[in-house]
Amino acid sequence: MNARFCVFAVLLLLTTKAHPASVHLVNAGTSDYVIYHEADAPSSVALAASQMQDYVLKVTGAELPIVNRPGDKMISIGDNLAARQAGVSLAAIPWEGYRIVTRDSDVFLVGRDCEAGQLTPNGGTSNGSLNATYDFLERFLGVRWLMPGEHGDYVPKSADLWIPETDLRDAPALLNRRVPYLQQHRADVKRWCMQQRLGASLYLNHSHNWRRTIPASHFDAHPDWFAERGGVRIPPTGRYKLCTTNPGLIRAYADAAIKYFDQKPAASCYSLSPSDSAGYCQCDRCSALYETDPNGDLSVTPAILAFYNGVAKRVGKKYPGKILAGYVYADYVFPPKKTVKLEPNVFLTWAPSFDYGFTLSRSELQQQWRELLSQWTQVTSNLSYYDLPMHIETEAGALNPPGLEILKLIYPNLQRAKMKGVYVYGIEAWGRAAPLNYLLARLAWNPAADVEALFDEYCAKAYEGGGDDINQLFRLLDREVARHYREYPKARYTLTTDMMRDIYAKNFAAIEKLYRAAESKVRDSDAKVRLSMIGDNLTVLHWNLRQQGVLEAAEESTFHLSDQAFSAFLSANRGSLALSPTMVNDPPPSVRSKFQVTVAPRAKHRDPIKPFQLRGDQHLVLRPLGDDRVELKFSRVSKRGKLVHYAVYRQDASEVASGLVSDTEPIGWESDQADYYHLVISADTASLMVTVSGAAWAVDGKLSDQGLHLLGKVTPLYFYVPDQTASFPLSLEASPPGETASAMLRDPGGQQVASFDCSIISVDRQRIEVSAEQVGWWQLDIQAAASGVIDDVWIKTEPPLSGYFSIAPDFALEVQIQETGVE
Ligand SMILES: [Zn+2]
Repeated sequence: MNARFCVFAVLLLLTTKAHPASVHLVNAGTSDYVIYHEADAPSSVALAASQMQDYVLKVTGAELPIVNRPGDKMISIGDNLAARQAGVSLAAIPWEGYRIVTRDSDVFLVGRDCEAGQLTPNGGTSNGSLNATYDFLERFLGVRWLMPGEHGDYVPKSADLWIPETDLRDAPALLNRRVPYLQQHRADVKRWCMQQRLGASLYLNHSHNWRRTIPASHFDAHPDWFAERGGVRIPPTGRYKLCTTNPGLIRAYADAAIKYFDQKPAASCYSLSPSDSAGYCQCDRCSALYETDPNGDLSVTPAILAFYNGVAKRVGKKYPGKILAGYVYADYVFPPKKTVKLEPNVFLTWAPSFDYGFTLSRSELQQQWRELLSQWTQVTSNLSYYDLPMHIETEAGALNPPGLEILKLIYPNLQRAKMKGVYVYGIEAWGRAAPLNYLLARLAWNPAADVEALFDEYCAKAYEGGGDDINQLFRLLDREVARHYREYPKARYTLTTDMMRDIYAKNFAAIEKLYRAAESKVRDSDAKVRLSMIGDNLTVLHWNLRQQGVLEAAEESTFHLSDQAFSAFLSANRGSLALSPTMVNDPPPSVRSKFQVTVAPRAKHRDPIKPFQLRGDQHLVLRPLGDDRVELKFSRVSKRGKLVHYAVYRQDASEVASGLVSDTEPIGWESDQADYYHLVISADTASLMVTVSGAAWAVDGKLSDQGLHLLGKVTPLYFYVPDQTASFPLSLEASPPGETASAMLRDPGGQQVASFDCSIISVDRQRIEVSAEQVGWWQLDIQAAASGVIDDVWIKTEPPLSGYFSIAPDFALEVQIQETGVE
């Protein structure tokens, strides 16, 4: 038991003895109390009553009836007549806030509640009485919600229950408290978030919203709405940017927001946030607003704030009470040098993107973080916080420590700065980071809470007899991760090979020892399950360390599994709370369309295949050649912390096989009369090369609107131009000036018909005219440009072409999608 809890227990004892007004709720496992709420109370109040009943029963063994009439001895929940008659009113209690009051022999839990379907004036919700109930259960019964699900509760047993004389009130410091990426699609996670009193009386939508608001289809009519680069208005692909100083664009954006509010009268907020990544407009009018940030880099902040103001002013004329929210982030994370007066309906979400990962372990960044926080609070008081400052992105099982020092820096400062919201990423794989997820939720309600005490209490309660060992394990990782981020200036928030070697391989033996020590001491069955969730991740981590060849004597570890056993282990953990591996679960939409596939006659002019690397998710269509076994070999699999999964489907979308993509294990299957098969790879940012035997094949260039994505190594691409094609658009994309590419297009006769160059402009899109003699296989040769280097390159064809590319010219496959889908 930690010191803070001892003090509390002593106080409890004193108040119990000293005040005859304390309430004896349960006596030797029996109780004459009822739980009362009004019959027509909001549904959150009814839920509060049933949670109260459940946990009082679990703790004491006494089942208190839930009634809709006040009883002689009662726990009254909700703002009702009985409470008001007892003098317990909600005067001066803010949204989501509450009071817990003992009066004579009764207990009143009264919170500010929204009726079902009703919103707060700021578009949020308020479940004050439910919040009061969870506070009551924690404070007086000692219950903790350590993790979602049936094994997540900590419930101390006690046949006697005294509630000391109490009159307390509480409310959240932040009006919008969210911890995303906890597997919120799960009902048990949703319940856990409620138990942690996450929520929002102020609704905010600050997501990247330019593409949804101004779709790429506007380009042909309004090219000047879109970013200019290298003197050219760039055809919008991927995370395209807008020309924010264009008056027509500002008008169109405002009109879209107004239309949204017209159609959804209850909506209270619309997002103005730019698309992610760089590529801002370089037209003279936009450029005139740009500045240089203190690091000597481009800052587009003045242009973005002027855009926010411009849209907000127009929308505010019709909807003065609605909020227009936008990030201040990335290339616009530094405040403007000149004071900007923001429109009153503009709300800023500060996302200090330089601090992602554990980079706040570096003292110079801590300094910058403090300075920027203070500067932004001077720009506006309409400010919320968005961050992932203790987050290593990976599926490789690398345990994510809680970042205690960073938490201690951030949260008290957010409270001092009077931030209105907090949106800090949790970790989906709870076995990697349950303590971090718990701390993020607790600090969202009370940013001034004692981080060390919370962490110590968490380990002791969650892992029982093994608590000290797990506490040491996470503190060891906390130190090692902080050290790594100080020693490796390039470390960001994605797991790198350096991290695997320098943090996880280096400390694996120590981690394993602490884990097994904890395991030998745990007796409680729920704590065993919680502990095993860490163990599941260590199994995944071990496999990944072994794959990367960075672990000495890997076979000797107690976590060692053969590749086959590991694959089975992962399949058994589909959708688990502990691991949350993203598998290929359902056939993606492209698999549900009907295809016509033709094996091509050999192209006349063809160049041999060169080593290449495909990046990101992939969809291949394969047509078996004869009765041969179809086999695919992968190489250059660069996982980037991701477990790369594949699934094979027949043309009717039934599954043939699935598993993990690796350099060592080819995949294959016997052809079973299907006309063609789909191979789907969930790769995220991973890249790989694939070699196919036994089938003609083509790769889908339409999974992203940027087209087929190659990384660093390129090979000629082939695509079929069918009869009656008059023309088609083709584009090449890179990220100049650093990452460039050029390409040469040849028709079926081998004649060069066009050349593409992305050394200055990012997208070179051309419409290619086709004559009757040019039906057949075209070839695109991608090359280095005159300047820059080849890294990420995208190639895209548009209708009337199907968007598929062949890579191996001797096994080219023509793919056409038929109009009538399977569904
Ligand atoms: Zn511009």
